[in-house]
Amino acid sequence: MLKGVDIGGSFVKVLWEDGRKEKYFIRDLKKDKSSFLKRIREIILEGSPTGVGIAVAGFTSKEGKVYRSPNIPVLDGVDFNELLRGSGVDFVIGNDVSVGAYGEWFFDHRDSKILVLVAVGTGLGGGLVVEGKPFFGVCGSAMEIGHHTILKGGRECHCGSKGCWEAYCSSYGLEKTYVELGGEGIRDFEIVKRAKEGEERARRAVETFKEHLYVGLMNMVHIFNPDTIVLGGGVIEGMRDLLEDAQDKVRELSENLPGSYVEIAFSTAGEFLGARGALAFIRGSRSDIRG
Ligand SMILES: [Zn+2]
Repeated sequence: MLKGVDIGGSFVKVLWEDGRKEKYFIRDLKKDKSSFLKRIREIILEGSPTGVGIAVAGFTSKEGKVYRSPNIPVLDGVDFNELLRGSGVDFVIGNDVSVGAYGEWFFDHRDSKILVLVAVGTGLGGGLVVEGKPFFGVCGSAMEIGHHTILKGGRECHCGSKGCWEAYCSSYGLEKTYVELGGEGIRDFEIVKRAKEGEERARRAVETFKEHLYVGLMNMVHIFNPDTIVLGGGVIEGMRDLLEDAQDKVRELSENLPGSYVEIAFSTAGEFLGARGALAFIRGSRSDIRG
């Protein structure tokens, strides 16, 4: 049986073909590279899968090497061909949001010709599926849309640049906006909760978040002319009922022609977005092989 494995900063999440889900806490292992990699190998091979799709938060080559993973530095330079040597398991690997986008197409949006996934959590990641094929770019690092500039000389981003989309639309972006409006340093979900309870400052912080979110989505519409934009990730999930106007607002901001073709949907995969994408990725690669 096939399974999808999503290696994140704190957890490894697994989704099997029959719908079984598993979650492994790994954050405390990250200090020691060899025990961390041993555990990752065990989790991947656990249950003797016939094939595994692997999603990794970071820059990942199609051939199986992780170049850099800002949130999981012990994976920097790790070649999964080496890690899984001798196991005989067939695997495919990709960036978590890129394969997540493929999972959106594979499970929920098969009619889509151009699908863009925008996932907002700790950071902002993107994925693209064109005519049913995941788009990885030349070396596997396409769709780093969180770091496209939406305000030149703007707020500092975790990547070291300024004015990135992620600097405004991420958990830390929302938290920073709240502080800039005179609020205390509280977590993103607390701000969203306060906004829903009617606190004026929190409401303004969420409005600012939405303005930047929609401008970035307008850019996606103008660049890719997608029929489907899927929104996902923890921050989006938490404020989903505050984003009901997303489609109307993004259409208003966009040129009429591409704007009228885009539909904005919300992911149904929850926290298993990456794992579901990884599962879709190995399933899709199998059907390619079968022709
Ligand atoms: Zn950035």
